[in-house]
Amino acid sequence: MKFYLCFIKFFREKVCIVKEMSTKIDSLLVEDFRKVVESTKFALIVPHINPDGDAIGSCLALNGFLNNLNHKSRVIIPNEFPDFLQWMDGADEVIDFEKSPDEATQLFQEADTLFCLDFNDFERSEGLKDLLASFKGKIVVIDHHPSPVANCNLLISYTTVSSTCELLFRLVEEAGLLNYIDKKCADAIFVGIMTDTGNFSYNASDPDTYYIIAKLLEKGIDKDLIHSNVYHTFSEDRWRLIGHSLKEKMVILPEYRTGYISLSKKELDQFNFQPGDTEGLVNYPLSVKGVVFCALFIEKEDQIKLSFRSKGNFSTNDFSRKHFNGGGHINASGGSIKIPLNEAINLFENLLKDYQSELLTCF
Ligand code: 5GP
Ligand code: MN
Repeated sequence: MKFYLCFIKFFREKVCIVKEMSTKIDSLLVEDFRKVVESTKFALIVPHINPDGDAIGSCLALNGFLNNLNHKSRVIIPNEFPDFLQWMDGADEVIDFEKSPDEATQLFQEADTLFCLDFNDFERSEGLKDLLASFKGKIVVIDHHPSPVANCNLLISYTTVSSTCELLFRLVEEAGLLNYIDKKCADAIFVGIMTDTGNFSYNASDPDTYYIIAKLLEKGIDKDLIHSNVYHTFSEDRWRLIGHSLKEKMVILPEYRTGYISLSKKELDQFNFQPGDTEGLVNYPLSVKGVVFCALFIEKEDQIKLSFRSKGNFSTNDFSRKHFNGGGHINASGGSIKIPLNEAINLFENLLKDYQSELLTCF
């Protein structure tokens, strides 16, 4: 028994000693981050348009972290807060620029630091982009998308991490400030990692991600409750919309190993669409055997919003950048186009011809 306990102790110590992060954040960047955090008196935190779980999670986590350090900060989002994340701590204090442009503009005059989270191009902040470009204080970008172009003072960009939330955690930990991540911040970080990996089904093969989850559990997160809050609180309308999309609107094109779903404004109105209701919908065609590429078309007021997903080495990022004014990651990206919905679908189907051999050999 004694030997056994000794072995466990040895094993534990050994595990601690050998632990090293696979993506090591440059120590100069960590130091710069620590200095900005230390010197800020009033920070603004901004995510991309149509913020998702990672965007909202990283903003709320950083906001809580700064507040725990006794710094003033506010989260300003370009447009509506997603319904499925309303339960999150701090959600009710987030400022929606579209609803309160004057208040947001005033805060941009008062703040000394601006954190841009989960995007790396001011264009992605839509209506806020002029306020970002003319901001007089320090601008810090923390992001995990490729090809950063934002004009900023400090760029912390790592594309190998699962999410901006994971990157934020690593930064805070390496800056020696983990004590200022409380349970509420940990909850928000978990939301970002969980949603940006499709509940750990992709971009989640790095052991470090699970090391971070272990640390978040130590902070007291209730992972099952968070999972339930995010995935098991759909409105009836949202489920009906998913049902309609799968039964009536999903198109599978086996000759291109591609699938897509399109939803018109009329259909969205019919199901009383709320922001966040189509989150995750793009992924369904990828579950059809053989499909490696899929798209979701959503008709908005003045444009068609597109989401793309793929398996393996087919780059949706290149595809959306080249044809739909977009970008993102290799297996998950998005874009938009200002033509009618049926024309956008025709364009997409015609483009597939050019990619047929790539799609058929994709692995
Ligand atoms: P989603 O399809 O979930 O909206 O977005 C998937 C990924 O693509 C996210 O990483 C998001 O930031 C990126 N993305 C979505 N739409 C656009 C877009 O219009 N432009 C660019 N550059 N990236 C986008
Ligand atoms: Mn993200």
